[in-house]
Amino acid sequence: MDLFEYQGKQYFARFDIPVSAGGYADTVDAAVAEADKAGYPVVVKAQVQVGGRGKAGGIKLANDATEARTHAENILGMDIKGHVVRRIWVEHASDIAKEYYASFTLDRSAKKHLAMVSAKGGVDIESVAEEDPGAIAKMHIDPVDGLTEADARRLVADAGLDAEAVEGAVDILQKLWRCYVEGDADLVEINPLILTDDGKVHALDAKVTLDDNAAFRHPEWEEFRGVAQLDPREARAKEKGLQYIGLDGSVGIIANGAGLAMSTLDVVNQVGGSAANFLDIGGGANAETMTDALEVISTDDKVKSIFINIFGGITKGEDVANGIVEALGRVKLTAPIVIRLDGTNAEQGRAILA
Ligand code: GDP
Ligand code: MN
Repeated sequence: MDLFEYQGKQYFARFDIPVSAGGYADTVDAAVAEADKAGYPVVVKAQVQVGGRGKAGGIKLANDATEARTHAENILGMDIKGHVVRRIWVEHASDIAKEYYASFTLDRSAKKHLAMVSAKGGVDIESVAEEDPGAIAKMHIDPVDGLTEADARRLVADAGLDAEAVEGAVDILQKLWRCYVEGDADLVEINPLILTDDGKVHALDAKVTLDDNAAFRHPEWEEFRGVAQLDPREARAKEKGLQYIGLDGSVGIIANGAGLAMSTLDVVNQVGGSAANFLDIGGGANAETMTDALEVISTDDKVKSIFINIFGGITKGEDVANGIVEALGRVKLTAPIVIRLDGTNAEQGRAILA
């Protein structure tokens, strides 16, 4: 589960990682009230789960209530790369002397955790990695040993952070590591991690992905969940127990198995199309699942065509075909459907479709 920035900051705060005081708001009036509470100047920040909000105009500085109101009016409802802003976060503005980067994530190929620290923060870390890879200090952390204080010091030294920032950064890295491990995250990222004019180190942004496999030991995650499901398509899919992720394109995709679904997205992209979603109906998909899948896809008005890619293993071709036929009876579909059906009982399935 991906958290919004403000939720990530709430999560950080549980591990004593310093963040700015602020509050969230869903209306302009509530935003101004939060701004008054935080104390001017404030930053008004769009809460969408996509990077580069700053460049898109989703992050604005306000010196007084009038400016806060104007920014809140502009940002609420704004579309940032296909994500509509329904909530904003308002926090007391920081005086930035330097912007750094820090993260922990899982490096699956190394079978270890990966720490990354850079003195080049505040910008897209992918472009730093491309243009100036030496500017990112990296360290693999053995999951059994964990991150030691010495590791944190070496990372900070390798990244070349300013002398005034060293102690604060070492402290935050250790707390961020605890947040990552005890907080059961797959990713914790602070970009920018800032050094303020008065010498404090502090998280200005938060990107946290929680490991859903650990949800059973975190009943407190429920509070994040309601909000994190704001995409109505994803909410509907979740109700039906489907593995669905909404995307911005026009080709609705249904496949069985996450690998086949991802390959299907790639293939659609390669031939110049763009996927409207990822949808894996799983190994033992039956008629009911197929109907649910088509129902969810048909509620997305960006969908102009539907591509169903099924390789029958456990899934039987006739079940898939019956599901499609049944769904056509239940759902009003205007988009043309292209079906690739192969594997177990594909012949029977195709006969039913014919
Ligand atoms: P992102 O663009 O989605 O990564 O959003 P961030 O939260 O990282 O903010 C983008 C940029 O806005 C930061 O790198 C800062 O330069 C600027 N910014 C954010 N908060 C503040 C603040 O409190 N004070 C100042 N001066 N700039 C800020
Ligand atoms: Mn950022």
